[in-house]
Amino acid sequence: MVILCPTCRALSPVGASHCLNCHQSLLGIPPIQANQLPPNLQPQKGGFLQSDGGKMAVGALGGAAAAIGGFMLLDAVDDIFDHDSGPLDDLFD
Ligand SMILES: [Zn+2]
Repeated sequence: MVILCPTCRALSPVGASHCLNCHQSLLGIPPIQANQLPPNLQPQKGGFLQSDGGKMAVGALGGAAAAIGGFMLLDAVDDIFDHDSGPLDDLFD
């Protein structure tokens, strides 16, 4: 059971008197089952429960793509300077 903040939509544990994220008073807000969250709910940072697995997966993929792009960029820079045993090579060994 969780309490959905009416202000920022963060999730707080039952019994919390105030939202963990925005400190809105949660007194009188009826708790709901975590698995009964509206499908369009997008928990905000600060919620103790992240239920939007798809969104998190997309974020992870985006992060991986950014990391790969960063490595490719580092590799290109490494080629330009043609290090044989520079600090950049240590990253890939
Ligand atoms: Zn809140």
